[in-house]
Amino acid sequence: MTTARTMNATKTETGLTRNEALKTGCPTLAGNIFATWADPSTDHFTDDDYEFLKFHGVYQQDDRDLRKTGKKWIFMVRGRIPGGVMTARQWAVFDELSTRHGNNTLRITTRQSIQFHGVLKPGLRPLIHGINECLLSTLAACGDVNRNVMAPPTPAYTPARAEVFDDCKRVAEALKPRTPAYHAIWIEGVQLQLEDPAHRNFEDPLYGKGYLPRKFKTAFVIPPVNDIDILTNDLGFIAIVEGGRLVGYNLAVGGGMGRSHGNAQTYPRLADVLGFLPREKVIDVARAVLTIHRDFGDRTNRKHARLKYVVAERGVDWTRAEVEKRAGLALEPARPFHFTTTGDLLGWHRQVDGRWFFTVFVESGRVKDTPQLRLKTALRQIADRWPDLEFRLTPNQNVILANVPEPARDAIDSLLREHGVRTDRQTTVIRAAALSCPALPTCGLALAESERLLPSVLDRLERIAAELGLQDQEIIVRITGCPNGCARPYMAEIGLVGKAPGRYQLWVGGDVAGTRLNRLWKDTVKEPELEGELRALLERYARERETGERFGDWAARVLWPEIQTVPALA
Ligand code: SF4
Repeated sequence: MTTARTMNATKTETGLTRNEALKTGCPTLAGNIFATWADPSTDHFTDDDYEFLKFHGVYQQDDRDLRKTGKKWIFMVRGRIPGGVMTARQWAVFDELSTRHGNNTLRITTRQSIQFHGVLKPGLRPLIHGINECLLSTLAACGDVNRNVMAPPTPAYTPARAEVFDDCKRVAEALKPRTPAYHAIWIEGVQLQLEDPAHRNFEDPLYGKGYLPRKFKTAFVIPPVNDIDILTNDLGFIAIVEGGRLVGYNLAVGGGMGRSHGNAQTYPRLADVLGFLPREKVIDVARAVLTIHRDFGDRTNRKHARLKYVVAERGVDWTRAEVEKRAGLALEPARPFHFTTTGDLLGWHRQVDGRWFFTVFVESGRVKDTPQLRLKTALRQIADRWPDLEFRLTPNQNVILANVPEPARDAIDSLLREHGVRTDRQTTVIRAAALSCPALPTCGLALAESERLLPSVLDRLERIAAELGLQDQEIIVRITGCPNGCARPYMAEIGLVGKAPGRYQLWVGGDVAGTRLNRLWKDTVKEPELEGELRALLERYARERETGERFGDWAARVLWPEIQTVPALA
């Protein structure tokens, strides 16, 4: 998630963005955050502190549904949860904090974290304090730093999987900023004295005074399952498991989803696989790739400030040589791997250790209670009654209840059903594969609806699919409220990207394995016209597909040549 203010940031005299001056001017990132939080005469922070807050995992927002009647300041707080693994106790704490200080929902993100929405300023410190007390954090969940590190969520517990998760945690720790301000503000409750030379001259050992030009995303994946969408990350480690042993990783560098409408300098990009590294070099390589972004990323234009543009413009060979120089190794040729799917295994499954896990489908990742579906209450009761369970967040916005002992399985199943949560055939194939970002009313950058539109888009798509006999055909649909692409719409078989209220770009042709970007099919579709557009596409797909061919593969085969003949959309 990015911000309008950030993207419009005015440049300084040096040509650098305003954000660069802010970071180097206050490298502890303390700003005036604590003093403003403690000041009851204001309900929000200054523009400068707004930028610093992001490094602490906080976005200042306003409720956009209420703008016509006045501005209501609210905050989004995002956790940093490496690999998305939480204990049952931590889930219970997050649940409690969302009730006390948020809007009584928890939102599972596409990067295996949890967001609290609708927090008011007084609730910020108790909320973040509570997260830290349960041994999680919000530091670096947002901002120009390495974000939450992702890892495969499925609780298989093979030795190789355990090692991959261990590496995920080690990399998360190694790339963490070291500012003393986070502890001072949220734990101790004090304002750092910025005139103190120790604070004025603070320099992060990895990030320096200027941190990164923009955000940086890191992930681990274990083929053949690509539930992480690994190629969309700045830095990806593709586990190579031979004979049941983790022998190392293929290194993928330079992926990213974000783009801006009408700006051809910006585009989604898949990471390049540069070569293979042994496991013991993973931290060195992670630091090497991050510092390439730090040292070569564009600090004059935040729209163009991602590592993917460095890799695209300087080239793969240059990038590989720079990684090798900085990490002190020669990458070996990449080892063979392939991906088959990006989806989650919903429902009950046996772990390799004999226990069970249950993947709960969560539409748009929004854990809440409704009269028909009391999912939030059900999960809280499970966390309280079975404290030895793990709650594993998936990049598909679902939650896995892991380590369920055989005797507890039936009781958990009953408890879920009593609260309206289906435990078999939880949803349709199309709904199970869909993602959406939050967009309106909370995200300041949203140009159009996303989470609130998703159900009706899927209703329409499923109605058409049923009429055409395609109801059992999985089609991956992803919607975002703006082109930043938080729900990775450019990897979807059908991607909708908000352009303006009620208007969307329509992208087609991603693949099920997460290895192909889709392409723009229609530049502007009004929301009432969506059904007609989808119907036209599905009718052709039903007619023209080859045996077993998925929608995205058909679109890439049949529609892409047509796209290339339409210059305006190419
Ligand atoms: Fe991300 Fe959606 Fe907000 Fe755009 S509208 S920044 S994609 S959450």
